[in-house]
Amino acid sequence: MKKRTIASGARAKTRPAGKYVYFFGGDGAEGSAKMKNLLGGKGANLAEMAELGLPVPPGFTITTDVCTYYYQHGRSYPQTLRAEVQKHLARIEKRVGRRFGDPANPLLVSVRSGARASMPGMMDTVLNLGLNDRTVEGLIKMSGNARFAYDSYRRFVQMYGDVVLGLKPEKKEDEDPFEQILAKKKQQRGIKNDTELTEQDLRQLVTEFKQIIRKRCRIEFPEDPQEQLWGAIGAVFGSWNNDRAIAYRKMNGIPESWGTAVNVQSMVFGNLGEDSGTGVAFTRDPSSGENVFYGEFLMNAQGEDVVAGTRTPLPMSQLQRDNPRIYRELDKIRRQLERHYRDVMDVEFTIERDQLYMLQCRVGKRTGVAAIRIALEMVKERLITPREAVQRVDPEQLNQVLRPTFVESAKKAAIKEKRNIAKGLNAGPGAATGRVRFHAEDAEAAAARGESVMLVRIETSPEDIRGMAASQGILTARGGMTSHAALVARQMGKVCVAGCETLQIDYERGEIRIAERDEIVIKEGDAISIDGTTGEVFLGEIPTEPSEVVRVLVDRSLKPEKAPTYQRYAQLMKWADGFRQLRVRANADQPDQCANAIAFGAEGVGLCRTEHMFFGEDKIGPMREMILADTAAKRKNALAKLLPLQRKDFQGIFRVMDGLPVTIRTLDPPLHEFLPQEEAGQRALAKEMKIPFETLRARVESLHEFNPMLGFRGCRLGIVFPEVTEMQARAIFEGAAAAEKRGAKVFPEVMIPLVGHVKELQLQAAIVRRVAAEVRKKTGARFKYSVGTMIEVPRGALTADKIAAEAEFFSFGTNDLTQTTLGVSRDDAARFLVPYVQKEEIYEQDPFETLDQDGVGELMRIATDKGRGARPGMKLGICGEHGGDPKTVEFCAAIGLDYVSCSPFRIPIARLAAAHAALKAE
Ligand code: PEP
Ligand code: MG
Repeated sequence: MKKRTIASGARAKTRPAGKYVYFFGGDGAEGSAKMKNLLGGKGANLAEMAELGLPVPPGFTITTDVCTYYYQHGRSYPQTLRAEVQKHLARIEKRVGRRFGDPANPLLVSVRSGARASMPGMMDTVLNLGLNDRTVEGLIKMSGNARFAYDSYRRFVQMYGDVVLGLKPEKKEDEDPFEQILAKKKQQRGIKNDTELTEQDLRQLVTEFKQIIRKRCRIEFPEDPQEQLWGAIGAVFGSWNNDRAIAYRKMNGIPESWGTAVNVQSMVFGNLGEDSGTGVAFTRDPSSGENVFYGEFLMNAQGEDVVAGTRTPLPMSQLQRDNPRIYRELDKIRRQLERHYRDVMDVEFTIERDQLYMLQCRVGKRTGVAAIRIALEMVKERLITPREAVQRVDPEQLNQVLRPTFVESAKKAAIKEKRNIAKGLNAGPGAATGRVRFHAEDAEAAAARGESVMLVRIETSPEDIRGMAASQGILTARGGMTSHAALVARQMGKVCVAGCETLQIDYERGEIRIAERDEIVIKEGDAISIDGTTGEVFLGEIPTEPSEVVRVLVDRSLKPEKAPTYQRYAQLMKWADGFRQLRVRANADQPDQCANAIAFGAEGVGLCRTEHMFFGEDKIGPMREMILADTAAKRKNALAKLLPLQRKDFQGIFRVMDGLPVTIRTLDPPLHEFLPQEEAGQRALAKEMKIPFETLRARVESLHEFNPMLGFRGCRLGIVFPEVTEMQARAIFEGAAAAEKRGAKVFPEVMIPLVGHVKELQLQAAIVRRVAAEVRKKTGARFKYSVGTMIEVPRGALTADKIAAEAEFFSFGTNDLTQTTLGVSRDDAARFLVPYVQKEEIYEQDPFETLDQDGVGELMRIATDKGRGARPGMKLGICGEHGGDPKTVEFCAAIGLDYVSCSPFRIPIARLAAAHAALKAE
């Protein structure tokens, strides 16, 4: 066996011009794992496995270049392709000693898609290709099993009809015509399982399947294997642009230009009897990350039976008992693959008459919990370095170790009340509670209405991905840990319980019943809860609680030494912090939020929105008084009441943030937001303030704006009412002085919002600096402070050099900067941004979530250059919601910002994203 790891990469194979087909199998391959772009993931890894000497059935890969050509040339192929395919088909024939279309000894092949990135189940596959009324006789001879041959034939006709001839249903109301015929046949025969169908039944099914093709498609089912082959190749290339694949690409950021490869491979059969079988396995547990061989298999079955969830497969431990020789062989391959790829691999295998074959391998998808554990353990095993470990964990995956579990006592109570009604497989960890929806479309709609949704299905299919993404949790009645539901849920980081077989789901009646618990009927819309870590299903809601990491860090209710997941998280974050350059701060407005932020690793507050402090009971009264004041004297009076309250808030924050910088922003939102808009509320307030209702209503109306987001807000408030800024500045500095007196090190940074013109900042900064001097003089405090501005309107960005003369720092307010650059209202965007992103692809992602780098990002670049040009070394940060988005973090690192600021729970994600950005830039 060859000793070579992917990383050492001894060999980069050449790629002759005009070569469109690459052979693999037998004792070697023309391609390698390094050629994913050209051969797709499946093709490249089949080649690699063949080169490693693993038992791969021979086949060939038609390159992704052909897919590109196909779409650029009106769905046609390069001229030389046919001859090349024939040549390679002949090579397979020679290797396996069978001929394509030979009635006596037919070669059968599978035709599968395989893109550069794995897109499970999104594109098409055809198996058993090459069968017709003549070759089926050869297959009978070869296998000595007529039932098997006809079963293979009927599966082939069905797949060909579905995939190549387009009979597969696209909508939930449509039925697969082949499934209908099959169901009818079973009903007539009074049987339940496909396995009970006789040879005679299967023969009839083939005839009936062909009839339905004739009727629906008005063509004869092609008997010619060559025609079948080219039909299937075309269908696979065509499936690159089916709705499912397009939706999946969009969700996973896979470019359309990549295209798919097509793999044509000689068939091996797992359904030749009890000495045959098929399975899928992971080299480690993809759910927990534990270093155990983890997988499922079924004897006497074809590949799709394991993933389709029609029969519930058996665990690998069973294979170890039933067939120790094959298990040992597989286990050896498992170790070999891990050493070679230096990662967890996910493999598909088939046993044909006690002979093991490897049909696929790829880097295994895993949960966040598993990703961290595997990365850490592989460092210990010296398979990878800490740097690689950091790179192996996707920042968004950290969500999973930060995610809630059920409140233990509530769960116990639910068990006591016998609300635990079923148990399935723990396919996606975490706890979720939501209302039952049976169809993906309904789940999506309900989630859009703000409902917590639990998507409950017999099994899921690729059509369901959007509904799955919209749900809190996913529950299925059929299928194993590697079923579609389980794979996709893990990838999305969703809570999922799969294969919960006691659920009897009736889509038509919209209800679930539980086997042997007749009293229970769950209707669509009822609440249920699932524990994706244990597989349990509960009636009703169960409150959730923070994760282990949160309990150790935030609640401090758990000791670190009792929290293995926390310990791994902490080690990973330590490594990540060693690599990153960007600092990470928090958007936090209260001392308790600041404490959380520090627990998650914040290195300061990047944005304290002072207006959030005004909504508290004690402050809203004087705030309203201030807004409603009709004379400067009354306003001053109200502000005098606010001053001590604000001072207390700031003091609290400074004390928690001891030694770290705190950016506090002066009042930002339009004033009407603080007043009641409904008549009842206005009447109550008028009474409380002892003013006539009409006066109050008139004042509210006078504050009404057609476009408040672009109206009387931000620094405009402080310019028209300087006494407001003055009061806030005083509260900040007096709070700082008080905290300093109690031993804290304070670094206040006062930030003026919505500045577009340097004069705006000059006016506000003058107030702040005057008040700072006064407070310092009065209190004798020595704290250092700075005055800066948000850059959140285009004029501010474009005149950043002038503004930098006055501002000691900039913080990009990308929420407003996106709104003002795109001319898209933050509050009204959802209605058209969804089709803009999902349908028309005008923006790749929601620009309020992931920064629009070409537009908004360009303004940030300009402001960065101009700002630092005028004030070298100026401190720059971002505090819009984008600050916690990994892609945006990478951008911020690239343009040289000093820090990103985001909500406390996203801080670990931003830290890891910052480490990724630094490592990528090296
Ligand atoms: C911003 O505009 O990006 C920002 C952080 O401020 P706010 O969201 O409060 O307007
Ligand atoms: Mg803003």
